[in-house]
Amino acid sequence: MIRFNELKTIYLEITNRCQASCPMCSRNYCGGLPNPNLILNDWSLDDFQKIITPEVLQQNDVLSFIGNFGDCIINNNFLNMCKELTYTNIQLHIHTNGSAKTTDWWTELAKVVPKDHNVIFAIDGLADTHTIYRTGTDYNKIIQNATAFINAGGTAEWAMIRFQHNEHQVETAKELSKKLGFKNFSLKDSNRFKNGNQKVVDKSNNLLYTIYPYGSTEIKSLQEKEINNFYNTYKDLEIDCDTNKYNQIYIDCHKDLYPCCFTAAIPYDYFKKEDILYNGYLRAKQEHNAIIKLIGGRAKINTLNRTIKTIIQDPKWISAWHQSWHNKDMIVCAKFCGKCNTTTSSAMEQYINV
Ligand code: SF4
Ligand code: SF4
Repeated sequence: MIRFNELKTIYLEITNRCQASCPMCSRNYCGGLPNPNLILNDWSLDDFQKIITPEVLQQNDVLSFIGNFGDCIINNNFLNMCKELTYTNIQLHIHTNGSAKTTDWWTELAKVVPKDHNVIFAIDGLADTHTIYRTGTDYNKIIQNATAFINAGGTAEWAMIRFQHNEHQVETAKELSKKLGFKNFSLKDSNRFKNGNQKVVDKSNNLLYTIYPYGSTEIKSLQEKEINNFYNTYKDLEIDCDTNKYNQIYIDCHKDLYPCCFTAAIPYDYFKKEDILYNGYLRAKQEHNAIIKLIGGRAKINTLNRTIKTIIQDPKWISAWHQSWHNKDMIVCAKFCGKCNTTTSSAMEQYINV
């Protein structure tokens, strides 16, 4: 288990709010009805100052604003949090859909972020395709916001998820990203398809349309047979924990500290009975509850009650997680960090939600 003086990266979910409703995001069911397990919450500036102390900043290399369920820019304290970091040596990563706030706000953000920063804009195609997946966002507004940020001196990355509906636009998007001044263009294929497609529904659960994976994707869509097989075999997989390898932790919008985003999402994820992941989700919840009980309850992982250092050096926190990896107790750990699993390397980075 990582020690405080080895900590390298902290992932922060400072809100679980978002104006978008992407169909594979757990905020909503297929982009429609809201996830009933979500309890909306944000970090205040005071929370940020209390949790991310000068000692934490001095020790840690990377601060990454990301989230299982939300977009950091929706938190109205976000700009002030960045102002706390301006003169630090921290490497700042900001993952966002970029559709909220004004161009003035983005110009100011460029001026207050520390020198070493990267804002990763999720832009899944061009004006005619972007919102097929990234529903609730506005392509033109994102481009305006990103341009304002770049023109004010900010470093930005265009991160595109490739689907069947936008695969023909990859090269054009890449060229446009260069023209607009993005420093990087990154491309990935979604690994969240189930049975080869993803339904998109409205707020009344009416089917709007269906989206499909990129034609020759090597990341396979989940199939029911494979999942059932996984339920029977996951206890055999050795766990090679990313948190240990990369010295990372994740703190959610309720200020609860977990090793990673996967373990943090479990209490709030939502699957319907007919979903092929439903049984795994029930198991994950039970396993998660057992671990939190071993640690001594949720209050023991809350960073407003106890410092990051106290939590990750608590013998009960260490032994509960170590024991779970050793005994192969967590289906989530087997899924993302089980050896023989192709998603092992930098699994956290591959599971970026925004
Ligand atoms: S899923 Fe489990 S094994 Fe993987 S990083 Fe998270 S806690 Fe570690
Ligand atoms: S994937 Fe990101 S942008 Fe889309 S709804 Fe979820 S949090 Fe918002």
